[in-house]
Amino acid sequence: MTFKKFIYSLDLNLRKLILYLSIFSVVSLFIVSLVMSYYIEKHELLHNALSVNAEYAAKIANSSGSHFKMMQKELAYSAEILGKNFNNQKYMQNEVDRLKYQSNYFNSVTISDKNGKFLSFAPLKLNFQKNKVIRSLGFKLSLEKQAPVISPPYYGTSKNLLIFISHPIFDEKHHYLGFIGATIYLKHDNILNKMLSSHYGYRHNYMYVVDQNKYILFHPDMNKIGQLSNINIQSLVGKNRGEIRLNDENGNEWLAGFARIPTTGWMVISQQPASELLKETSETVYEMLVGMLLFYILIFFVIWKISYLISSPLSLLANMASHLHKPDIEASIERVNPWFVEVRQFKSALLISSQHFKDTISKLKFYMHTDPLTHLYNRRGMGLSVAHFIETNIPFAIISIDIDYFKKINDTFGHDQGDVILKEIANHIRSNFRDEDICCRSGGEEFVVLAARLKLENAVNLAERLRQKIESTSMPLVGEVTISIGISHWPTTSQNIKTVFKRADECLYNAKADGRNCTRF
Ligand code: GH3
Ligand code: MG
Ligand code: MG
Repeated sequence: MTFKKFIYSLDLNLRKLILYLSIFSVVSLFIVSLVMSYYIEKHELLHNALSVNAEYAAKIANSSGSHFKMMQKELAYSAEILGKNFNNQKYMQNEVDRLKYQSNYFNSVTISDKNGKFLSFAPLKLNFQKNKVIRSLGFKLSLEKQAPVISPPYYGTSKNLLIFISHPIFDEKHHYLGFIGATIYLKHDNILNKMLSSHYGYRHNYMYVVDQNKYILFHPDMNKIGQLSNINIQSLVGKNRGEIRLNDENGNEWLAGFARIPTTGWMVISQQPASELLKETSETVYEMLVGMLLFYILIFFVIWKISYLISSPLSLLANMASHLHKPDIEASIERVNPWFVEVRQFKSALLISSQHFKDTISKLKFYMHTDPLTHLYNRRGMGLSVAHFIETNIPFAIISIDIDYFKKINDTFGHDQGDVILKEIANHIRSNFRDEDICCRSGGEEFVVLAARLKLENAVNLAERLRQKIESTSMPLVGEVTISIGISHWPTTSQNIKTVFKRADECLYNAKADGRNCTRF
């Protein structure tokens, strides 16, 4: 099927065209705005979520940093004093107790000599063996470095997963004496999870902390603490804070913000699932969609109404264009409301066409019903008039006229001169009768006058007047010409029109037989 055929098969009209066009525009506008708003909304929400997470992470990293600084300061202060009282056992015990119980920072506090032997510890319930050499990671690092240490997580002597924070102890001459160390049990209540867990839950958001080796130090899911994180730490290297989109092993996408804790170098990561957010986007867009749909339905309804207002005058006029022959068509055209330019133009063009059509038809009618030589009605015109009189029941006389010896005129003066005489006689006939009488040339040199609403006697008088007028008029070149006349009447002579015509002929024949130039009825 060609495109043209397809278009024709749609059977389009102006209204359908306007409607299809509107549906197309409205639907495409709808789809475009839907897609656009979905992407804008999504971008906006993702962007916001990433910044909020980055902001959270930074805040937590900062306050954690301050806490660790505080812990280190506390240990440093104790180390300073212990340097002067290293042989005072009681003093050492007081100091570890104070650090354990004064603040809630530490789960345990220990003092070790330079060989890694326990000198003091708190709480006492730990039941450590004093003077035993300890080989834990925290001890090892502290002894090796003889400097402040924050260890990676490891399982300590107490079988707890912990991190170890220590500060070296030196005497007044700066000889290394040992260290004071404290632990934070990662899977127990501690300062870290007190700080972090308070932020858990917003829009399925949660935080966790990993150390430089990707070990999880804090996680809302306790089981994950101490395990390796699957986060791609490489992408965070060298950065202190930022935003990142992560994928977990199940293929879920997470929107995350991260920030490094300044004192420890650990990374705080705050993240939330992208799917939740996308669901929210879809819901917002869905709400918008319903609102827009109502609006578009309203627009469509308005267009539908307007399309009727536009198309109806045009289709009315187009319909009238094929009925220009109807008698009351001009009145119908006039009734169409021309509320826009095209209708006005169409209307006036149609009125002009209708007028032109009427003129042409009336000219055609005139030529069809008129004898070209005399301009009287021909036989067809006469037939129509007879039918009209009979239909409308108007009585009329039939006056049948024949020129006497016309053949002789033709023979003597030529056919053209004969025509001149025919025209002269026709003019006399026309001027002898009234305007409403129908004067016809019924044959070669024969005429019929239908005299409406005239009694037979009055018709005879008029006919006689004509005969006398012609008799007394000298025709060009020819001189005297006479006519014979036969008269009948409908419905006086007969109800049957054929009989009435026959009667007029008989009367004319009688006039001829009676010597011509006379009237018989
Ligand atoms: P009558 O008195 O019996 O009527 O005799 P007439 O000669 O008039 O009658 P006839 O019927 O014998 O002749 C009529 C003539 O009219 C014959 C024809 O040549 C002539 N005629 C018919 N039509 C025309 C026409 O259109 N022009 C001219 N010039 N002559 C015509
Ligand atoms: Mg004749
Ligand atoms: Mg004749």
